[in-house]
Amino acid sequence: MADSKVGYIHSIESFGTVDGPGIRYVVFFQGCPFRCLYCHNPDTWKFSGGTEMSVDAVLEGYERNREFYKNGGLTATGGEPLMQLDFLTELFRKARERGIHTCLDTSGASYAESKREVYAFLLRFVDLVLMDFKHSQREGHIRLTGAPPDGPWAFARQVEAAKVPMIVRHVLVPGITDIPEQLRDLGVLMAGYGNVVGLDVLPYHTMGVSKYRELGLAYPLEGVPSLTPQEAKWARGVILSAFREERKRLRGSGHETGST
Ligand code: SF4
Repeated sequence: MADSKVGYIHSIESFGTVDGPGIRYVVFFQGCPFRCLYCHNPDTWKFSGGTEMSVDAVLEGYERNREFYKNGGLTATGGEPLMQLDFLTELFRKARERGIHTCLDTSGASYAESKREVYAFLLRFVDLVLMDFKHSQREGHIRLTGAPPDGPWAFARQVEAAKVPMIVRHVLVPGITDIPEQLRDLGVLMAGYGNVVGLDVLPYHTMGVSKYRELGLAYPLEGVPSLTPQEAKWARGVILSAFREERKRLRGSGHETGST
């Protein structure tokens, strides 16, 4: 049968090791509605770019190196994969048919309750979500990404309802997200989702700066230094301690959550 779904793909990494478990075939979707101040992929923002590819063409690349992915699978990232919902769903549906582990790396941008059924259908074919919670406080989220957090938080709620495991990702940025109150609020936010199975705290780095120059864009965090893995470890401790406290409190009040 002809493959009717076409996607706009920024690039594909054949041997990804940081976007989900094992060695992965990582598909970077073109287009993102957020404008995170620390974004190191500004070349994925525009919706007009990217290479037009069919689902089968994307999966052909996977099949070529299939043996390498036996402990890994396929990850959709970006850009924002949810912005190409039909294509993403078809890609994951066909991947699932072939026994491929599917992982969705998303910030939840674009989520709308009106499309609840469409997202529910997608989630039937998702094995793992890497949920990039940008900021745990409303104003901070708007300042950091240009958009409020309601959509992403509602999307995470739907992931929970679909019983898809979720690893929370969080980029630690000096003066923006490394503030203890923000970190504690993130722990509390995470504790409210019963499907959280892990937490990755990623230290801010400046590797994307040259891309801004190439695109003729001003770099919003000029002069902000990179953070170290030790600082990320400290932040992880603050988040997890608030997470455990909140889980305890929720259990004490009879609120049902999963185990982490
Ligand atoms: S969501 Fe990701 S791709 Fe989009 S602006 Fe933020 S960091 Fe960049």
